[in-house]
Amino acid sequence: MKKLGIYIHIPFCVRKCKYCDFLSFDSLKEDVKGRYVNALFSEIKMQGKRFQGYEADTIFIGGGTPTVVQAEYIAEIVECVKENFHLAEAAEITIEANPGTVTPEMLEIYRKSGVNRLSIGVQSLDDKVLSALGRIHTAEEFRNTYFAARHAGFNNINIDLMFAVPLQTEEIWEKTLKEAIRLKPEHISFYSLQLEEGTEFYRMYKEGRLTLADDDTDRRMYHTAVKMLKEAGYHHYEISNAAKPGFESRHNMKYWQFDEYIGLGLGASSFTGGKRFANTSIMDEYLAFYEGMGTGGCPNFDVLCKNADPVSGQIILPQDTVEKNTEADSIFEYIFTGLRLTSGIDLARFKSIFGKNLQDYYPDKAAYIKQMIASGFMFCESGFLGLTLSGIDISNGIMSEFSEPYITD
Ligand code: SF4
Repeated sequence: MKKLGIYIHIPFCVRKCKYCDFLSFDSLKEDVKGRYVNALFSEIKMQGKRFQGYEADTIFIGGGTPTVVQAEYIAEIVECVKENFHLAEAAEITIEANPGTVTPEMLEIYRKSGVNRLSIGVQSLDDKVLSALGRIHTAEEFRNTYFAARHAGFNNINIDLMFAVPLQTEEIWEKTLKEAIRLKPEHISFYSLQLEEGTEFYRMYKEGRLTLADDDTDRRMYHTAVKMLKEAGYHHYEISNAAKPGFESRHNMKYWQFDEYIGLGLGASSFTGGKRFANTSIMDEYLAFYEGMGTGGCPNFDVLCKNADPVSGQIILPQDTVEKNTEADSIFEYIFTGLRLTSGIDLARFKSIFGKNLQDYYPDKAAYIKQMIASGFMFCESGFLGLTLSGIDISNGIMSEFSEPYITD
């Protein structure tokens, strides 16, 4: 059976963080959450029928903040996926948690429902930095959540951290890393602040009220993290991710390895059969469509199947956006995402997917690649082409060199 990852989006938060442009709402009434979960059940049932030929081996419940909805809802969502998809016995099931919103009782409910990986978005272990980011929790609340998760039996925990953020000196960043490492989570993600349009930080920056770290500081903070994590026994397997060996995120690996996944819920994206799909991002549209189906099944199923994409089997709803990858899109995506992995791009797999060697699609880049390897920015070893640690510092420039593969008819 083909493998499939399932992403489930919970678009609710207690309060919007100042840097965040994710699809999430902080002001919807409580009853919308219940209606949304019921709509999700309908979507899960409907898509489960379409993906009977697949085995789902990862589920990722993300957001937003999945822990702002009742834990019982999450248990029901997991149950609904189990009933409607072929779920692998050892499936990785992750939920994202925000320290200000999760209790020991909720963690017990998640564990009992089969959730076996917890991803805690703490971002910093310094209260001043947390407050500057607009986070709703303190470092102490995070510690309590972390220990409660261990107590509830979670033996696969990720901690999300951010660097190059306001009020964070290099010393504070090092202190945060030291404490995070001391806690021994199985996985640590570390992202630098990205200024996104429409966020509070963006407005502050435009008004001259926000100073950003310069590039040199950003890079020093990044290398400090990589060095400390490696010394502590973490495998730096992706540009912004490190894990104890064997605890790499199986779900996120699908994004970086060009594997298939479906996204369920508001605005969620899918990649199946070489096509990208996205659900509507408008809550009223999403609810109106799926609530119409009721929770006992999908009366419109046969009609909808007639509208299904013939290659991927994905049902195309009236409000969906669908993008068919051209061959050039797919090749560039494979390279762009593959170069994020520190192991690099698997050249044999590239050939098995696209039918030709990578260099055949880039005849004019042979000298460039050679020069990057000679300068220590790239490596080509044992059938893998990748970025070295210094290459990661200029990754955007290197990746963009591959944006236009040479395609013959
Ligand atoms: S908790 Fe996460 S999704 Fe919600 S506003 Fe903050 S960063 Fe965005």
